[in-house]
Amino acid sequence: MSAHYDVVIVGGGIAGLSLASTLAGQCSVALIEAEQTLAYHTSARSARQLIPSYGPPVVQELTVRTLDLIAAQDTERPEPVLTPRSFLLIGDEASVRAEASGHMRRITHAEALDLCPALLPDSFSAAGLDTGSFACNAPVLLEDHRRRAEAGGVDIITGARVHSAQRLGTGWELGAGQEGFQSAVVVNAAGAWADELAVLSGVEKLGLQPYRRTAAIVDVENPLPEACPMVAAADDSFYFRPDDGQVLISPAEHVPSGPEDARPYPGDIERLVARLNAITTLGIRSVITAWTGLRTEAADGVPVAGFDAEATGFFWLAGQGGYGFQTSSAIAELAAGLILAGQGPAAPAAARTPAVSPSVPPARDASPASRTAEALAATRWSIRR
Ligand SMILES: Cc1cc2nc3c(=O)[nH]c(=O)nc-3n(C[C@H](O)[C@H](O)[C@H](O)COP(=O)(O)OP(=O)(O)OC[C@H]3O[C@@H](n4cnc5c(N)ncnc54)[C@H](O)[C@@H]3O)c2cc1C
Repeated sequence: MSAHYDVVIVGGGIAGLSLASTLAGQCSVALIEAEQTLAYHTSARSARQLIPSYGPPVVQELTVRTLDLIAAQDTERPEPVLTPRSFLLIGDEASVRAEASGHMRRITHAEALDLCPALLPDSFSAAGLDTGSFACNAPVLLEDHRRRAEAGGVDIITGARVHSAQRLGTGWELGAGQEGFQSAVVVNAAGAWADELAVLSGVEKLGLQPYRRTAAIVDVENPLPEACPMVAAADDSFYFRPDDGQVLISPAEHVPSGPEDARPYPGDIERLVARLNAITTLGIRSVITAWTGLRTEAADGVPVAGFDAEATGFFWLAGQGGYGFQTSSAIAELAAGLILAGQGPAAPAAARTPAVSPSVPPARDASPASRTAEALAATRWSIRR
């Protein structure tokens, strides 16, 4: 016997959980996660920073909207998700000019050194600063999505990998673990496995590519002041930021990988430690912990949020790359609007008009990736900075 839902979300990372909490109470929803714990993969491995000036214009717009949505919910939370932490970009003039866009303003060399005295003066010649950037308490955000989802009636099933999915009649039939599920809509929020899930569902894959990225917490002789911004090289060769008296560092690598439970490669963090000890006064003494996650990207670098062009009721929520947290609430809002308005569950009785109604043409001839770009471009958020 299969359980029936309007929407089944596959994947319990930030993408799946934020959509589940947004849809909660509006239609019947199940979220299925392969691992025993939610947010086991990339969503547990991020640098936890939301940066309005980071990414292509569509991503920047989604980030601003996400910050608004999270800030509004922070007023109701005992522990806030957002804490102001600026983002400082350093490098030579050409690389900083190329990267400093949108919400970032150029600052002088002396101003940058004031903000991060740990930088050796000759380690950079140009800088940009994004003061609208925030540290994100990711565990609190994820837990809050889970709590809101369950409070709104979402069934969350962990330890059940979706191993089969096929279109039957007007809906989908999925097998996960020992259980069966039927739904009008399947949401593919499977992160690095999104293309694999498409293939096992008989849906043409999009060519989503996971890329490795490693980070570590290190112990230092000279801790950064907690007010120090996150510091990133404009040539994408490293970043670091304060982390409760220690320092989070990353070599910011972008190395293709298959979908897997990624682990750090020997040498990656050690080489970065040597470099940072040469260009800062941090004095890194030891590596406390290191991890690797997979940032999965579409070819155009824009997250994919939209119904598949061919497979009715198959919704892509994937390709968030390095922006999965900073775009999460806005993409969930957009996706929920598309699902409730579009080829989603047959007009669920409890459905209400989404707070933001994206004006998305129901065209079925474009690819999901280009439809996402169109949908996002056509969306007019109610609040804009
Ligand atoms: C080092 C690093 C730093 C980062 N820093 C930032 C940052 O500062 N800010 C930011 O916004 N983003 C950052 N990111 C990116 C962000 O972490 C990701 O974009 C985001 O976590 C992706 O979330 P997701 O839910 O799509 O994927 P995931 O968290 O990987 O979730 C997908 C889930 O789907 C499940 N799944 C897959 N296949 C199946 C199946 N068949 N059945 C059931 N379940 C399945 C998986 O088990 C997994 O739990 C960073 C990433 C890395 C690696």
